[in-house]
Amino acid sequence: MSQFDYDLFVIGAGSGGVRASRIAASHGARVAVAEEYRVGGTCVIRGCVPKKLLVYGAHFAEDIHDARKFGWDVPECRFNWDVLRDNVLAEVDRLEGLYGQTLDNHNVTVFRSRATVVGAQKVRLADGTEFAVERILIATGGWPHVPEFPGSEHAITSNEVFHLETLPKRVVIAGGGYIANEFAGIFNEFGSKVTIVNRGDAILRGYDEQIRDRLLQISMTKGIDFKFNAPFKSIEKGEDGSLIVHLENSDPIEADAVLVATGRTPNSKGLGLEEVGVALDEQGAIKVDETNQSSVPSIYAVGDVTNRIQLTPVAIREGQAFADSVFGGKPTTVDYQNVPSAVFSHPPIGAVGMTEAQARNKLGSVRIYTSDFRAMKNVLAGRNERALYKMVVNAATDQVVGLHMIGPDAPEILQAAAIAVKAGLTKADFDATVALHPSMAEELVLMK
Ligand code: NDP
Repeated sequence: MSQFDYDLFVIGAGSGGVRASRIAASHGARVAVAEEYRVGGTCVIRGCVPKKLLVYGAHFAEDIHDARKFGWDVPECRFNWDVLRDNVLAEVDRLEGLYGQTLDNHNVTVFRSRATVVGAQKVRLADGTEFAVERILIATGGWPHVPEFPGSEHAITSNEVFHLETLPKRVVIAGGGYIANEFAGIFNEFGSKVTIVNRGDAILRGYDEQIRDRLLQISMTKGIDFKFNAPFKSIEKGEDGSLIVHLENSDPIEADAVLVATGRTPNSKGLGLEEVGVALDEQGAIKVDETNQSSVPSIYAVGDVTNRIQLTPVAIREGQAFADSVFGGKPTTVDYQNVPSAVFSHPPIGAVGMTEAQARNKLGSVRIYTSDFRAMKNVLAGRNERALYKMVVNAATDQVVGLHMIGPDAPEILQAAAIAVKAGLTKADFDATVALHPSMAEELVLMK
């Protein structure tokens, strides 16, 4: 008989925790997972999945408009937020059920409770039940960071935005990152007046400058307002319920909703981690080595709580690598090179590898190829919106070290092209591939 109740106790049933639980169980471990909110985590419940469904919903605004140019007799259309919101939330419920089923099917015990760490090999549920466990995996993800300013309680975050009672006519969004740009696109397509307010002078730091500039230009053309170098001072609630956002260096803005999207911080507070000696960094992220092990040997962590790359597929890989290494006898580490990413703005961005600036710093000599074009569909629709593809090539080796794209379906195209970049293929390899015509993706093999 084992001295432990479980071989593995996972705290947090999000993308990383669920993957680790089910793979560890499939390797024969006795696994339990505790989740205080809903199985599925940020991505499924209040992140990637419902967001992408809203992006699809939003895009119909343009499709319906453009359809007339393609010969369709489109009557006046109205958008109904309640219908989309409820359908999206129902889909989230369905997916949550599937995640729960997956855990059940793998004989993972699920505790719908908060759990804390009370010893290097001991956890406690909210009702006081304690378990002796051989290993603990912390997969509690992240939480929206809301800067401190008077009236911040009137703002919502990405946690609440999917549940809005009504569609706000005027939305102010704080931040210039992923969530700000994605929701600016969504609300703008639904007809809300959107203003993005950023503390600095750049959106989407980390993405290639030309691509960011293109998004900014297209977003402004679509009617989204931007205020730069304008940190929030306060939010005041008017008698009629409207919100007045006071800014540094700028006039106040009236809004019906204020969405704060100023990054996410690791969800490591109140878990008892520091008390048992788990080292955290200054942002509260659990420090782990390349095997996902923390400073306490029996405690591991994966996903956003470790603040490496805050992306779902990365958390999933980390969960898989942990389970395979510790319970499957197959030591695996995650390769963080050339992780593709996307921003589901209108239009979306896809990117992999080094930006031009990063490549120039690192490699010195680079060749840049761009294709700046109007998608065929946009031309007929009379939509003056240009796509931009950019390829960064190491001049010494001809290797493609970065691909950056903004335009219709850019993330779909980029995912496939990322395989070539990951495989280290050269510009000559791209050129040797015959174009698939007519497509937007063919630009990738036609860049001169
Ligand atoms: P991001 O890190 O993308 O952007 C944060 C923005 O907020 C930046 O513009 C930043 O400015 C600004 N900011 C940061 N701190 C403050 C502050 N104290 N006061 C004012 N402004 C501030 O964060 P998001 O919230 O948009 O998203 C969180 C994370 O979730 C992302 O980093 C990403 O990993 C993930 N995500 C991924 C998506 C995807 O893959 N498509 C979609 C949504 C989220 P500055 O540039 O000056 O630092």
